[in-house]
Amino acid sequence: MTRPGPTDPRDGPVPADDVLSIRGLSVGFAGFTVLDGIDLTVRAGELVCIVGESGSGKSLTALATMGLAPPGARIAADCLRFTGRDLLPLTERERQTLRGNEMAMIFQEPMTSLNPVMTVGEQIMEPLRQHRRMGARQARETALAMLSRVQVPAPEARFDQYPHQLSGGLRQRVMIAMALVCRPRLLIADEPTTALDVTIQAQILRLVDELRHEMGTSILFITHDLAVVSEIADRIAVIYAGRIVEEGTRDDIFDDPQHPYTLALFAALP
Ligand code: ADP
Ligand code: MG
Repeated sequence: MTRPGPTDPRDGPVPADDVLSIRGLSVGFAGFTVLDGIDLTVRAGELVCIVGESGSGKSLTALATMGLAPPGARIAADCLRFTGRDLLPLTERERQTLRGNEMAMIFQEPMTSLNPVMTVGEQIMEPLRQHRRMGARQARETALAMLSRVQVPAPEARFDQYPHQLSGGLRQRVMIAMALVCRPRLLIADEPTTALDVTIQAQILRLVDELRHEMGTSILFITHDLAVVSEIADRIAVIYAGRIVEEGTRDDIFDDPQHPYTLALFAALP
């Protein structure tokens, strides 16, 4: 059940200022379908939350969008466009030049996506060197400035440390610095606060929200946590068993949830 009106992604042609337009995205593995016709739009400057239970297909939606779906995944879509460009025909090499540059992703557990044998500084400089062709000095200055911007205390000292020397909250800040250092148009955040304690969670949410306004980055924020959604979402897409069952503004969904699954999500709130 998708709410009718101007936010319905199936209403007409894809508007030019959409950062991400997904229509009819299906992903399956041999013998079974996981995503079954996902429609999703992220407009310039928006923070859109995908909310749904574990196993509903949130991460796969993110990974398919990033061109990072696992081997064996069969992907089909009517439309998968990023800033007006059709992603489906792109080669792996072309996708790579978008990733970390114009579109970036952060994950639930930064330990799995930070390189354990590279220092914090090297990892934040990497996208600058690769995508911006920056020299060592400029990359270092830019990376240090980003590290301070994500409020890592004593950035000069942290710069030369390895991920295992940082707390979970600091590692997530480093991931955010890496993801945003090239000022991407879109950040996909896949449960980035789920592994953190509540106070750190709130700090990271506040930081993400500040940075998106500062940098003009649109965000697709994935979570199973309605409390998080109520904090930050402009628009919400509720996913259930591989389908978006309801979509609307935060007020639409919180004040007048329609789909039985959305109602069940609210009923389960403490
Ligand atoms: P969520 O992030 O909402 O918890 P996922 O997108 O990770 O859910 O996964 C949705 C479903 O897709 C899983 O329950 C699983 O059945 C299936 N799936 C994900 N990755 C694979 C894979 N590599 N091979 C087979 N099935 C997979
Ligand atoms: Mg997931």
